[in-house]
Amino acid sequence: MKTKIQNRSTKDDIITKEIPMACSNEKLAVEFMEAKRWGDHPFCPCCASLDVYQMRSLDGVRQENFRWRCRDCRKQYTVRTGTVFEDSKIELRHWCFGFWRASTSKKGVSALEVHRQTGLSYKSSLFMLNRIRFAMADSVQDPLKGDVEVDETYVGGKPRYKGQSKRGRGTNKQPVVALVERQGRVKTKPVANVTGKTLKTLILDNVCKTSRIITDENPSYNGIGQHYEGGHESVCHSAKEYVRGDIHSNTIESFFAIVKRGLNGIYHAVSKEHLHRYMAEYEFRYNFREMEDGERTIQAIHSSQGKRLMYKECIA
Ligand SMILES: [Zn+2]
Repeated sequence: MKTKIQNRSTKDDIITKEIPMACSNEKLAVEFMEAKRWGDHPFCPCCASLDVYQMRSLDGVRQENFRWRCRDCRKQYTVRTGTVFEDSKIELRHWCFGFWRASTSKKGVSALEVHRQTGLSYKSSLFMLNRIRFAMADSVQDPLKGDVEVDETYVGGKPRYKGQSKRGRGTNKQPVVALVERQGRVKTKPVANVTGKTLKTLILDNVCKTSRIITDENPSYNGIGQHYEGGHESVCHSAKEYVRGDIHSNTIESFFAIVKRGLNGIYHAVSKEHLHRYMAEYEFRYNFREMEDGERTIQAIHSSQGKRLMYKECIA
């Protein structure tokens, strides 16, 4: 029997049928978010009690503001409580759309595009996407393991003057360091400078001591090997050496290639102050690349939980 393998990413992904529906209607969006956040056991985000109920009017119809109430702590809440979209007036169906697009577009999605596709203002679209990127940040908590490739690149910013052709070091572009496990996860960090001290501290903070570190010939990395059981290997790009056995930086270069295609093609000039958010988005999609599109969207929605509590307590 012939097996069709194309469209693998969407064929069995029921979520891709639910999400477009949720993006079209506020009630469906609320029910979608409730189902994905709480599953079959809706609980109170304030005290975690399961003794909760949907608030309804006298004729049994669900309230228009989709509130819930907890019998234990008596607080009222909604599916927004304790998430990055808690204090936003933007309809939940647009948040569904934002999460969906940001989780599934390879190169990213711009606020201008969301503005055109939802009818939200550009400002609201940007606000929403920045919150989603905030939710996606720090998708890797544990230190990286195994063979870890480390490299720095320069992104964003505008040339200091027209016609400037200089690239990389010596421009006002923002240096970003990425650390990638082979066949694994990536961490990205925009940095103020690329001195040996900065780079080595970053590696020591983010990579397990049992790892092997692989970099290019940048002397800033010299000496890092003494801290790692696997040591430190480097390839000498300036001498046209790209691969020596399993010593290469192909993994990290393919990650940077996606970032650069996205930043140049979708976001154009990203200012330094916002760059870390965009990097978080690329990092998130990369780290969950094995997931189906729908699964990855749900993952992003889940990661928005708890983030809001840093600023605001539950609805009293
Ligand atoms: Zn409660």
